[in-house]
Amino acid sequence: MSPAVLLGVPNDANSSFLAGTAEAPPAIRRALHSPSSNLCTESGLDLGAELASGHRLRDAGDLPIGVPFADIETAVSELLEGGERVLSLGGDHAVAYPILRAYGRRHERLTVLQLDAHPDLYDELDGNRLSHACPFARIMEEGLVACLVQVGIRTLNPHQRRQAERFGVEIHEMKDGSARPTLEGPLYLSLDLDVLDPAFAHGVSHHEPGGFSTRQVIELIQRLDAPLVGADLVEYNPSRDPTGVTGMVAAKLLKEIVARMLES
Ligand code: MN
Ligand code: MN
Repeated sequence: MSPAVLLGVPNDANSSFLAGTAEAPPAIRRALHSPSSNLCTESGLDLGAELASGHRLRDAGDLPIGVPFADIETAVSELLEGGERVLSLGGDHAVAYPILRAYGRRHERLTVLQLDAHPDLYDELDGNRLSHACPFARIMEEGLVACLVQVGIRTLNPHQRRQAERFGVEIHEMKDGSARPTLEGPLYLSLDLDVLDPAFAHGVSHHEPGGFSTRQVIELIQRLDAPLVGADLVEYNPSRDPTGVTGMVAAKLLKEIVARMLES
């Protein structure tokens, strides 16, 4: 089983509404290591001990603030070539594009599970084809993944509906009730924190009511049974999180994702 590595990707240059997600990686680490909690997953895996030994989990630190897409792709490629599985801490969701360019070269039949309020399938937004509203249009156009499954979606407009049909995206909308998609591996999880209801995670740029509870997202992660080869945790915006609660939510989800990586 290949080890897991944390990598901070602090780029919010393509956010359409607010900056701030570039500050997320160190804020998530502070929450992860906060003495108000511990580093154990709910299954009892001690990530503090795992990080200390470094055999199955290590922290590669952060890329430079505003890191260009080409450098993100190179950094992730190098970690994959070293046989590691990457859990990246965004940054806005635009960073999923260079990350999945690296993954697409490594895995021929990759399934991506995207947890998000938004499909992020715009052809362009405000003239920016690299906007955080567009990464999955770019990813599907380039054929980087075999299958894209979206869960938690509640903002589909006619343009993005057409895009989803064009790319064959499997969408489970919030309005249709609880989703239990069948997923085949290798699996990559792209987790946009705004999939959660703003009542549970207000520290995001786009507050979209009607989302999941923290427990529902944890259950989705814990029930993934396909081999998890990578993940990103994006769109945490510390400037909208004065209480730090959303940072703790991000750290909690990080722990449960690592548990799936190390225990599956
Ligand atoms: Mn997104
Ligand atoms: Mn979103």
